[in-house]
Amino acid sequence: MGSKVYFIKASVAEGERVLSEKARRLFHAGAFGSCFKPGDFTAVKVHVGEETNNTYITAPCFKGLVEELQALRTKPFITDTSTLYTGRRHNAIDHTTLAIERGFSVEGLGVPFIASDGLFGTAETPVRIAGELDQEVMIAADIVRCQSILSVAHFTGHVATCAGATLKTLGMGCASRKGKMRQHSALKPHVKRGVCTRCGECHRHCPADAITLDEVMAHIDQDQCIGCAECVAVCRFGAVIYDWQQENAILGKSVAEHALGALQGKDGRAAFFNFVVSVTKDCDCFARANMRKIVDDIGILASRDPVAIDQAAIDLVEARAGKPLPKLIGNRRLNWHYQIEHAVKIGLGSAEYELVEIE
Ligand code: SF4
Ligand code: SF4
Repeated sequence: MGSKVYFIKASVAEGERVLSEKARRLFHAGAFGSCFKPGDFTAVKVHVGEETNNTYITAPCFKGLVEELQALRTKPFITDTSTLYTGRRHNAIDHTTLAIERGFSVEGLGVPFIASDGLFGTAETPVRIAGELDQEVMIAADIVRCQSILSVAHFTGHVATCAGATLKTLGMGCASRKGKMRQHSALKPHVKRGVCTRCGECHRHCPADAITLDEVMAHIDQDQCIGCAECVAVCRFGAVIYDWQQENAILGKSVAEHALGALQGKDGRAAFFNFVVSVTKDCDCFARANMRKIVDDIGILASRDPVAIDQAAIDLVEARAGKPLPKLIGNRRLNWHYQIEHAVKIGLGSAEYELVEIE
């Protein structure tokens, strides 16, 4: 039979208030209140969207879920962690300011935004796991410390893992800076000779000073590179490339192992939501406005199983589009199976699910 995944049809065209109420209906339908106890410090893991990105899930869509947690007398806080790449989410000051500007705040949602990995992304706790790549992962300190977690992910394609949803939100989004670097450590890009225009944009944005320019092109020092993908994001000429087939597999597995670390000690104390609306080729980390939808809006999913919910979201997207996700995002060499299969293998959840549709 598999894990239960609750589903309600939804579209951004219905408006934020309706989306918020539909998420609330799922919360009740799945009796997710039992995951949270009075007095819990409850992390509400979100993505506030990189600056200029306008396809992220907006703060008012979370209102109903936050109110449910408040009614249960937990102490909810909206949270995320610092990014490796430069931008408005690179440290807690800029990230919190952006969150407040976008209503992820006491004023907007009645609860504060608190970066769970501290000011510089270095507040972390090592977590022992029974992984295949790692036996210890570095997770944001306040994620480890809080008693319960409500993860609300926006389902999108992803430049390196193919699918970005709950597993990615937990694995990458709840890891400290060191944990993120570990996940990306296998993902080292190269510059394509003959395509590079020597514009220097990648050199200016590289947080690790790993890029030099000679009279012909840019070069990436593979030992110094931390695999953050900033150069891929900023290169307008498509000159920065990866060996996707090799690196996609390791990154996908590492994301699953860090998700396992983020959930350590929270058995029965975590609920996962995927908003499968405004599904874009790239994730909300991309500082781009008006990214094109790759599929019509589908709805919202909720589950206690972080693997089943992602599998269900992928299946719904592929069925609606009539195409596999790698083709939809324009990179047939990427494969989402690595995340899911490895997550199953390490005991994070099940890829088998029962879809329970709510009216
Ligand atoms: S941003 Fe792209 S084109 Fe510009 S220097 Fe870097 S690799 Fe070359
Ligand atoms: S060269 Fe490496 S560290 Fe520098 S921006 Fe690119 S991926 Fe990041």
